[in-house]
Parts: sequence; C-alpha cells; structure tokens
Amino acid sequence: MTGSHAARDIDTSKPHSARMYDYYLGGKDHFDVDKQAAERVASVYPGIFVCARENRAFMHRATRVLAREHGIRQWLDIGTGIPTEPNLHQVAQAVVPQARVVYADNDPLVLKYAETLMRSTREGRTTYIEADANDPDVLLNAPELAEVLDLTQPVALSLNALLHFITDAQDPYGLVRRLMSALPSGSALAISHCTPDFDAPTWAKVAQIYNGAGTPVQFRSKTEVSRFFEGLDLLEPGISVGHRWRPDVAVNNVDEEVITDATVSLWSGVGIKP
Ligand code: SAH
Repeated sequence: MTGSHAARDIDTSKPHSARMYDYYLGGKDHFDVDKQAAERVASVYPGIFVCARENRAFMHRATRVLAREHGIRQWLDIGTGIPTEPNLHQVAQAVVPQARVVYADNDPLVLKYAETLMRSTREGRTTYIEADANDPDVLLNAPELAEVLDLTQPVALSLNALLHFITDAQDPYGLVRRLMSALPSGSALAISHCTPDFDAPTWAKVAQIYNGAGTPVQFRSKTEVSRFFEGLDLLEPGISVGHRWRPDVAVNNVDEEVITDATVSLWSGVGIKP
C-alpha cells in the first residue's frame, strides 16, 4: 500500500473484504492486516486466487454479451471493489463507446480510487457513489445516479461477488427485487456468488475466517443463488460455475488440473427482465 492515500476514515486495524480481494487479484492496494487474513483464506482454500481471477473474467464476458447481444448501454455496478483493469466501463465502452456506468461501494477505500473509475470515453459517462447496498432506495434516489442513468431505458444491474456479503437476515432477495423493480423491461441482472456446493468443509473454514475478521458472509447453494433470478429469463447456459458461463475458449481446453469447479466455486448467471 503506498502512502499516498490518507489513512483518515480508513480502518486499518482489521481486514476488509475489498482489500483482501485486491490481494487475491495481485493488486497493491491493501494493508498487512488484509494480506494476513487473505493468506489465512489461501491456506485453507488455495483456489481463492483462481476464483478471484475467474470472477473478473465472468464480469468481462457478461458485460460484453449484454452490450453486444442484448443492447444494454447502461450499467449499475454495486460492490465495485478497488479498481482493477479492465474495469467494467472499460469493457462496456470497448463495445459501445457511449456506455454509461454507475459504480457503488460502501468501502471508503474504493472512494479514494473513484477517479480511476471516472475515466470514461467522451461519448459515455461514468460516476461513483459511496453507498450501501442495504439501502437500495438511497442509491436509486441519488442525484448522481439520475445524472448518468436513464431509468426509462434498460440497465444491467451487476452484483459480482457482492451478495455473499449480505446475510439472509439482511434480506438479499428483497434487496435484489427492489433494485430490479426500479428498472424497465429489457434490463438485466448479472450475479456471481461464492458457493460451498463443491467443497463444503473448505468453505465452512473460509466463512469462519471472514466472520471472525468482522465481515459476515453467507455462501449459498445453486438453488439459493437461482432464487435471485426469479421472474427473469436466464440467458444460456443458465446458472453455471464461473468459468463455464460462455467461456471464450472451450472449457475442455482449459487446464482442468488448475481450473476445476471446486477451485472456482462461484455460481454465475445473467437474467433479462421480461
Ligand atoms: N464486484 C467486484 C468486487 C467484488 S469484492 C468484482 O467482482 O470483481 C466485494 C465488494 O463488495 C467489496 O468492494 C466490498 O467493499 C463491497 N461490499 C460489500 N458489502 C457491501 C454493501 N453492503 N454495500 C456496498 N458494497 C459492499
């Protein structure tokens, strides 16, 4: 972590999910406390680095498919994380330069980097809003959102690696329903979500590390992840393990030794609002 970012209002006394994720992705924007927690996760689940990389790769492919095949021109990305190239708007604007993207995260560290997220094409537009996903109405009514997104036109709601940080007690299903209800027909929902389905004992240990570090998590089964898409038309191939959702190269050509379903352990899917 460079010293260029004021430590004010950033809690470095305990690990934080966005900074741990930055470590998994090989970034530089984390502190020792995050690295130590991330290494504890890696010691019980060495697949975490592949999981994080495949999660980004799913986001890239889902964004391109929505831009190319479903006419999506606007994105609302909640739980953006510390910027990692290419960011969602760079992927979208490479297909449609006029794409508009609103990013939101509740980690003050992400706000410090918001400038990176605002380097839009001239034709497009991006913005960053510091907001908590658990207050969807605050986000939906934010003036900055209205400046960038036209909610009468389709929007893709992108919730990548976010919902496992929202426990059932916080009503994640109600939250997704509320957000989708604000978007018109033709809008999309893209989700990736860590799952214990392929290796429950390992994921119980991962959950223990996050919960113990003060970040409550709830990893969900395929059935539970499918429920987020109720009322939507799932795009082919349906809810899939991250690397199997519209792979750019046939998955059979991928090194199966390294990339197994258990290594990736992410359910991913994209649905369209009828
Ligand atoms: N979407 C990115 C980053 C995932 S890491 C990707 O898939 O690559 C999860 C992010 O969700 C972190 O940046 C964390 O700060 C954010 N997050 C967790 N709980 C949140 C909440 N309640 N509201 C907004 N953001 C949240």
